[in-house]
Amino acid sequence: MEITSAPRSRRVPATVLSLLLSLTVTGTAVAVTGSPALALPPAPSAFAVLAGGPSIALLWRPQPAPAERPVRYQIKRNNVEIATVTDPGLPVRSPSGTVADVVRYVDRFTDITPLPAGQTFTYQIVPLNSANQPGTATATKSAVLPAQNSNTTTPKPVVTVDTSGLTSTQAATVNGFVPLIEDWYPKLSDALNAAPFPASPTVNLVVAHTGGGGAEASGTTVTIDPDYLDNPAYRPEFNGTVLHEATHLIQAGYQCPECMWVAEGVAVYATHSLYQDFDPIAPQRWHHYLHKYSEAERLLRYVTTTYHKPDLLRDLNLAARTTTSITAFFEDQTGLTTNALWNAMQLSIYPGFRATTVRRYQLAGGSGCVETPFYDNTVPPRVNACWVTEAQEIIRWPAASGSGLLELYGRCLDTENGSVAAGTRIVLADCAYDAPPARQRWVLRANGTLLNVGASLCARTWNGTTAVDQELKLATCTADASRTFTLAAATQ
Ligand SMILES: [Zn+2]
Repeated sequence: MEITSAPRSRRVPATVLSLLLSLTVTGTAVAVTGSPALALPPAPSAFAVLAGGPSIALLWRPQPAPAERPVRYQIKRNNVEIATVTDPGLPVRSPSGTVADVVRYVDRFTDITPLPAGQTFTYQIVPLNSANQPGTATATKSAVLPAQNSNTTTPKPVVTVDTSGLTSTQAATVNGFVPLIEDWYPKLSDALNAAPFPASPTVNLVVAHTGGGGAEASGTTVTIDPDYLDNPAYRPEFNGTVLHEATHLIQAGYQCPECMWVAEGVAVYATHSLYQDFDPIAPQRWHHYLHKYSEAERLLRYVTTTYHKPDLLRDLNLAARTTTSITAFFEDQTGLTTNALWNAMQLSIYPGFRATTVRRYQLAGGSGCVETPFYDNTVPPRVNACWVTEAQEIIRWPAASGSGLLELYGRCLDTENGSVAAGTRIVLADCAYDAPPARQRWVLRANGTLLNVGASLCARTWNGTTAVDQELKLATCTADASRTFTLAAATQ
């Protein structure tokens, strides 16, 4: 299996859309008379200003429970208002993308006004209540845009745009991506590639519905979903998304089916480092590099700095084009497996963090391994032939780091409809990391049976045989071939 690119999924449940950030033209303060006094909003916390590429990103966190929502924020550059954004900002979702376990809200604004490099700009966020009365402003923070290197080895790509069938607004937005790609594709390619893997000299931009609802890359084409393009909530991240997908074109030719996380981590790291479009993620103890994107990026940054590997991104991008296993690559670079590196990094952040393991759960009586079929974590897991794939990597979260969960491709082994009766199908559900119900907790016992703590029953193949391509169910814990497992090495 050759992975040429990986879609950057931005699934957003409809219920969230109404909450998302929207950019508006600056309003005029309206005097309110005869209304009850409105509270003045407190200052946003964690205000950060990040300069890079051609833009300056502003990040801040709303107060946990402001008296009034939504709060609007006035953005000031050099003490002059440049925009007003409506709170709350983009929710940072769990790996499974559900609303229920939103981690926190982070607001952001990207100043994409063409600004000269080398000059200092100051920014400040002023919260407004619904009467446009200013609350407490943040402290002023400053940023300087770095000078840009225009001497790239990779030539400027030929960017084609298919605007047929688009509205004039959509066409204008997509056409605006052309100079962005012409400018940044060579820089990203220079940072990642070396012979014999030159980046494609052409980049095609298409607007069409994608499976993930955001944007995706395949071959030499970046496809942007019209629903994504039409949602002003996502406007601040458009440039970063397009460059992320363009990076996947540069990565074309990855050979390792266990390294989707590498593809995403490298793409996020490369665009963040060079272009500085940040997805703010607060590290959580139950995050994992197999969750890809910013989590994979964290691991790559950790290895780069801790092991002094300034060329890690390029070396990793080259290794992923060969048959070298990714585990072997990291062991060669650091002496540790990727998961051991992850545990060390998490322990440095969370004292008392208990190490996760990543293993394949192989049926002792046959050759099958527990798998999420077709990389689809919305269908029940099955026992399928063991092979080198992320779809069979199971993260075990010990107590204090996830409390006995078995996580497969972003979701956790659970029982169907919450039933704990014998015969119940084993399914994948959103992981309840902080307080898992007993039915999400599993114990692999010395005799190989996999005990479900909530049911006091064990996992067994659906047909009670050792044949592959079958689902799993709860059954009594007799240690026969259809319900005993061994831990096989992870393939990464
Ligand atoms: Zn991606």
